[in-house]
Amino acid sequence: MVQLTVDIGGRPGIDCRGFCAYCYFKHAQDLPAFGCKYCLPFTKGCDYCSRSVQEKYSGFIPLQEVAGKVLADLQMLTGDLTRITISGGGDPSCYPEFTDLMELLSSLEAPIHIGYTSGKGFDNPDIAEFLIENGLREISFTVFAHDPELRRKYMKDPTPEASLETLHRLAQKIEVYAALVILPGVNDGKVLIDTIRWLEKAGVKGAILMRFANTPEQGLILQNAPIIPGQRIHTPLEFADLVKETQKITSIRISGTPLYDPDLGSPFILAHEPDHLQTLPMISKCAGVITGAIAGPFLDQILRARGGENLIFMVKKEIADLITIDDIQELDLSTMPDTIILPGRSFIHISEAEKVLSADGRSRIVIRGPDMLTADGETSMGMTRDEVLALELEGCRTLINLINQWGS
Ligand code: SF4
Repeated sequence: MVQLTVDIGGRPGIDCRGFCAYCYFKHAQDLPAFGCKYCLPFTKGCDYCSRSVQEKYSGFIPLQEVAGKVLADLQMLTGDLTRITISGGGDPSCYPEFTDLMELLSSLEAPIHIGYTSGKGFDNPDIAEFLIENGLREISFTVFAHDPELRRKYMKDPTPEASLETLHRLAQKIEVYAALVILPGVNDGKVLIDTIRWLEKAGVKGAILMRFANTPEQGLILQNAPIIPGQRIHTPLEFADLVKETQKITSIRISGTPLYDPDLGSPFILAHEPDHLQTLPMISKCAGVITGAIAGPFLDQILRARGGENLIFMVKKEIADLITIDDIQELDLSTMPDTIILPGRSFIHISEAEKVLSADGRSRIVIRGPDMLTADGETSMGMTRDEVLALELEGCRTLINLINQWGS
């Protein structure tokens, strides 16, 4: 697959017609770099963890600049282009030169995918036909609710009827995936049922339900909690139940993040697959595996099945990929082994982690684990059960090999 990603820049909340009530970038503080897997060994901070992840763009990138970058990237590619993805910190539907951009990209004659749009910039539904004519083949569209008034109020969509009609027309012809951040008491219950039925009728391929996060533990790492003061939130298990119940009322594909994918049984299908577990290496050494509160119990079960007792060190943060240095500062070091493995994509710089995890005077080695041990609902939406299982087996095998290679 030869893919091209077209970055149009833009700022959340500013280059998308105002902050949605639930936007994770609302009240975001200007923070120093977190540290991450892309940083150099002795330098905390790189473009990814200081700018990209915080979506620190200065605005939309002008079309001329985007076009120049596309040309430069094309020269680096070998083979036929199979997919173009438009991405950025702002919303493509609000990009001032959006139609020109689509015409430019359609000349490359590869299917175009819009990785994310709220649709708030679609004021005239005729844009749907234009997009299809110009090569759009797949789009992820935030819906929130099919009730225009709820979209107007919670998404600050000035033309919700036009946005919904655009989605409807697109779904008749191309692959549309709907995304809904669920605010308990606002767009769950009957509103959710009606919205899912509307999406099914429209012809969308799938809908992903996203749990609203309102505390640092739930994943707000930009010192911006709470996003909505006093808003009720689902626990991970309540949310998984909601996803399960929603799946029962529709034939379209439903998954949820952080939990759960009812069609596949993910995340961590492997925990319930003894035959596949047997294929993993036995654990012969001891290393501490730091992980998040959701993955912790599943991973503990998997490692125990391969002889690894008491290796899991769970932080309060629910999502392992969003673990930062503050989370590991709270861990009790008294039972920690000499080797510690961090989640591959956590926002921590290794040398800083070594200092924090050696604060009791015992010098510990810290290494980074595999990027992915399972697929959350957003990732699994486009995967088969076998693909998720293969991903989990590869991730867990790499993790066990690291324990056996670096452990004591
Ligand atoms: S459209 Fe997306 S980026 Fe913009 S405010 Fe809403 S959730 Fe945030």
